[in-house]
Amino acid sequence: MARAIDLTGQKFHLLTVIERAGSAPNNGGARWRCLCECGNDTYARGADLRNGAHRSCGCLREQKLVEARLAQRVRRSSSERARMEMRRNLTIEGVHPDALEWASRSWA
Ligand SMILES: [Zn+2]
Repeated sequence: MARAIDLTGQKFHLLTVIERAGSAPNNGGARWRCLCECGNDTYARGADLRNGAHRSCGCLREQKLVEARLAQRVRRSSSERARMEMRRNLTIEGVHPDALEWASRSWA
């Protein structure tokens, strides 16, 4: 295998490479010690750093999970609101004034 590229000082997403930390097991290439922006340090393979598979000490994944959960909650609540809104509008003689306005405008 060719000499590993020196990644010291390079930044990959949240990780800044501090130093070479030997080789990854099973001929996995160079292993690097990285400092995450959250303050943790972690070890990653050079290939994983370069292809974006390893972007944080794990805190990024946590954050993504939280964001995904939040987004899901927002989506659910907004669709519930939309349903309620629809039901409310349907009580006005079955047609919403905006819909009437839009319909008359599109016929003009
Ligand atoms: Zn982190």
